[in-house]
Amino acid sequence: MLQVTRRQLLQRGALAWAAAHPLARRAGARRVPLSPFRAGVASGEPDHLGVVLWTRVFPDSAVAAIEVVWELSADPGFTTLRRSGEFTTTADHAHCIHVVAEPGPGEWYYRFRALGFTSPVGRTVIAPAAGATSLRLAAASCQHFESGYYAAHRDIAAQRPDLVLWLGDYIYEDAAARQGAPAVRRHEGGEARTLSDYRARYAQYKSDPDLQAAHAACAWLVMWDDHEVEDNYAGLTPTSPAEAATFPARRDAAYQAWWEHTPTRLAPPVAETEYRVYRTAAWSDLASFVLLDGRQYRTDQACGDRALSLDPPCAALHEPGRTMLGSAQEQFLEERLSASTARWRVIGNQTVMADATVNGSVLNFDQWDGYPDERSRIFAILADRHVANVVVLTGDIHLAAVAQLRQGDPGSGPPIGVEFVSTSISSPGLVPTDLAPILRRFPAMVGAELAHRGYVLHTVTPQRWTAAYRIVADVTDQSSAVSTVATYAVEAGTNTVSLMDG
Ligand code: FE
Ligand code: CA
Repeated sequence: MLQVTRRQLLQRGALAWAAAHPLARRAGARRVPLSPFRAGVASGEPDHLGVVLWTRVFPDSAVAAIEVVWELSADPGFTTLRRSGEFTTTADHAHCIHVVAEPGPGEWYYRFRALGFTSPVGRTVIAPAAGATSLRLAAASCQHFESGYYAAHRDIAAQRPDLVLWLGDYIYEDAAARQGAPAVRRHEGGEARTLSDYRARYAQYKSDPDLQAAHAACAWLVMWDDHEVEDNYAGLTPTSPAEAATFPARRDAAYQAWWEHTPTRLAPPVAETEYRVYRTAAWSDLASFVLLDGRQYRTDQACGDRALSLDPPCAALHEPGRTMLGSAQEQFLEERLSASTARWRVIGNQTVMADATVNGSVLNFDQWDGYPDERSRIFAILADRHVANVVVLTGDIHLAAVAQLRQGDPGSGPPIGVEFVSTSISSPGLVPTDLAPILRRFPAMVGAELAHRGYVLHTVTPQRWTAAYRIVADVTDQSSAVSTVATYAVEAGTNTVSLMDG
């Protein structure tokens, strides 16, 4: 029970924080402490009523609870408040804040105040309940901190989209300089394993000004992939068998830190239980989203998870019960896609769904090629139920690609959807760039660009889905130019993608 007033809390927090902070100490008599809002602000998961507002307050460790005021206005100068309130942060949640504000449809601005400071201002957009005629959606993933700067995020912020869909690998768990790619900056600490490790890793990533700007530009829908926990983990199976006994606790820590730092409506995870994060979202009746969790329920990657092998796959590939989603999530996906009345049905997905096999050989057992029977079931249901206007948005593989999804034969089956693979924000390419012409000749592939980092800016109207591939000229240059390398379009009712220009 706290026996102090809010004023006392605020004063104590500010003084303790300023005394403890090295920069504040160095400033001596002219103390100018840094803002405790140094992870920036974020918003997420808008519906037609409101949105989640997020920030993290960095106080002195002696402060258990901090009162934070949040404010939301129709104008960035906050001349008239539309909504406001107070929230008490606690150390249990790393002083992260998740507040649902419900101002109704429109463009809104929000900020927080605590410890004598005011946060940066964030913008967020809420669609009407029905009748939206456009959506500008940035899809992105994979922002390895050491491997490059976030010029792509600077460009997302400049584009002022309505929504960002994050497809995973928000952080990478590895120790400094593990990936061997050009390192423009260093991870702090060793490989993340504990709650404090993961929290520190989020804090480091969120210190980046361009990432903060992309969060402040609009609301995000956030899903995870593997690196929010560990590379290529599958359910409770870690990559290293030696870690089997300790991995459940590590995964719990990683999930907890993910929730704390994500602007989501989800409740926090409970240790040693399923944490259901697959869910739906919508942009009015223009687009419905099913956000998939391809990691928590999956069977371990088959055939030793060998990479880029042209040997025939082992028999285990078709073992009954092999799954990426788990049966409950597979059913959820099929039901929600069939039941959606939105114009476009979007699947937020991590690993490549299109067929990328070569004469039956699986090049990457981590993606849907490694779970072919489950994929066939999903594609068959889309075809049988005549589900129209399916768009799959995919991350994970650090390359830009466009695929025509077909039931059955990947080159000649009936089209059942289109897949847009956004490349990585900064993570290094995994496939040699000189393989691009070969990849483009795969039956399902319409386009591929392997040499650059970036994201995809989608413009959605009832008549047409347009995907502009934004690429970063030089990921080692914080102020790099970002430009469109190619634009693709899907006319509503066709399930078929074509290159517009590029
Ligand atoms: Fe990645
Ligand atoms: Ca990944």
